[in-house]
Amino acid sequence: HRELRIVQKKLVDTIFKIEATFNENRKMLSDNKERFEHLNKQIEELQNELTLVKEEHQTDYLTALLNRRAYDYEVEKMERKYQVFNSNFAIVFYDIDYFKSINDKYGHACGDAILRSFAKILKDLTRKEDIVARYGGEEFVALIHYQDEIEVSRYIKRVKNTINETNFIYENNKIKITFSAGISFRNKYESFLEAKKEADELLYKAKNQGRNIIFLDNNQEL
Ligand code: GH3
Ligand code: MG
Ligand code: MG
Repeated sequence: HRELRIVQKKLVDTIFKIEATFNENRKMLSDNKERFEHLNKQIEELQNELTLVKEEHQTDYLTALLNRRAYDYEVEKMERKYQVFNSNFAIVFYDIDYFKSINDKYGHACGDAILRSFAKILKDLTRKEDIVARYGGEEFVALIHYQDEIEVSRYIKRVKNTINETNFIYENNKIKITFSAGISFRNKYESFLEAKKEADELLYKAKNQGRNIIFLDNNQEL
């Protein structure tokens, strides 16, 4: 009888111990679950932040177009496609005419507003598969895919007509602007750099010949 009582007591003790361990484990498990869920949420938040930062890294703050960094990256992509698939593209350099005098006359904030509107028009008239970026200041650049050069002429005519017909409204002022542009077709040059240089020079020529002019490297003037 006595031995039985001893065994019984031992058994009860053991059951208590098992129960205690079990509870401890359960608590640890639930704590870990909470920690795991917390960490998961943190990772998700960081991923969202990273996406946002990446976008900001490539976006021009004022106009929301691609910035110069993103443009450089897109040029590389475009060049690879050109080398592999021979996908033709044109390089369009834009520069707003007499922009400094708009700032001088209406103020810098007005200049900013006009840059934003100008960028919006360019973005709206440029197809999704093409590239448009703010190159710097009042200078913009577009990379336009084409099959036939006439498509590029049509594109730039559309931009010119739209800009020339737009009244840029700022604090009751109706402001008209014009731009000059130089356009080169990549496949006429050995390298992107040479093509870009030609577009630059044609833009410079447009400025020298009075502005509000577009020169293409196929002797077209618009
Ligand atoms: P041109 O017809 O020869 O191009 O003359 P321009 O006055 O447009 O060219 P210039 O290079 O002499 O001046 C460019 C001006 O653009 C000067 C600069 O203050 C202004 N600008 C550049 N970036 C910004 C900007 O972010 N906001 C505003 N408001 N002005 C800017
Ligand atoms: Mg300029
Ligand atoms: Mg200018």
